[in-house]
Amino acid sequence: MDRQFGSFRIDIDEIEALIQREGYASALLQVPDGLMRHAAELAREIRSGTGIEVVIDGDTCYGACDIAVSRAKALGLEALVHLGHEQIPSMEIDGTLPVHYFRVVEEMDLSEMYNGLDRFLKKVKKGRVGILTTAQHREDLDKAASYLEDHGLDVLVGAPGIRETFPGQVLGCSFSAARSLSKEVRIFLFIGTGRFHPLGISLSTRKDVHCVDPITGDLSVIGKDDRERFLRIRGAQIASAQDHLRTDKRIGIILSPKPGQKRDRLARDLENLCSEKELDPYLVSMDILSPMKVRSLGFKVACSTACPRIVADDSILYMSEGIVLLSPIELRIVLGEAKFSSYLLDEEW
Ligand code: SF4
Repeated sequence: MDRQFGSFRIDIDEIEALIQREGYASALLQVPDGLMRHAAELAREIRSGTGIEVVIDGDTCYGACDIAVSRAKALGLEALVHLGHEQIPSMEIDGTLPVHYFRVVEEMDLSEMYNGLDRFLKKVKKGRVGILTTAQHREDLDKAASYLEDHGLDVLVGAPGIRETFPGQVLGCSFSAARSLSKEVRIFLFIGTGRFHPLGISLSTRKDVHCVDPITGDLSVIGKDDRERFLRIRGAQIASAQDHLRTDKRIGIILSPKPGQKRDRLARDLENLCSEKELDPYLVSMDILSPMKVRSLGFKVACSTACPRIVADDSILYMSEGIVLLSPIELRIVLGEAKFSSYLLDEEW
């Protein structure tokens, strides 16, 4: 049975039933930052319902890719209970510790979303629309699609790729659902907050993306100007990396130990490529990246194989420390192994 924790709905009975069925004596409870203020209450409920020891993981969780298996094992706990993210289907999980994902539904007043959809319908009166969202708004996608269909639009929902769990889902590291519709639709509609995901959809399809913010009802568009601005910034970073590497051949290739961000083969391929091009590459393991850490290692140029959003979102912070942080494809462009004209966001999984 679902129980309410603030605006979040969680099926605690399902969690307790699983713990009892598996016979665990202890578990690490990992929740997203937004749910952290309810973590103590959740731990108390699970503890009193099952009698097991529940330890709260107090570290930041960046997504379904960032599960605390190693911390649970280090503490000698028997299982990891991970709330609030959908499991990434293609992610390899260390099989020595059981990991259980549970859904969290955030209750939202959808009136603003419908207001935003009405604004969209005033601009786009007919035709075929591809609709996309993030895991946070999974529940809203079907409602928005039905509403648009009732108002005369032909709505298509993209097929999930290897990292997504439901049709129409996009992640900051995968826009497969958008590309699966690219030949069939002229217009994309993104239901969600922030600019990163619609910009990713727009870059990976080279099409404009209308965005309805379900919380404020605002309607905005990510278009050609936004794509060009992003590409100009990345082009300048690539040129800057080429300048630095002419005089200082050292480059850090950052490798994440997070289970769903670890791309060791890619990192080693990039290391080999750098060596072939007579650079001086170093593999660096880093759980949480920061400009200060990269600077303290003395690198002017680094390439991150961790979460793709770090390069896209945080490169300005690295620039202010005098560091160029590149994605894998950007490094290949620097090395003359790829062309800037076919620039893509980092989705190499
Ligand atoms: S790798 Fe980054 S974008 Fe992908 S799921 Fe993890 S946190 Fe999100």
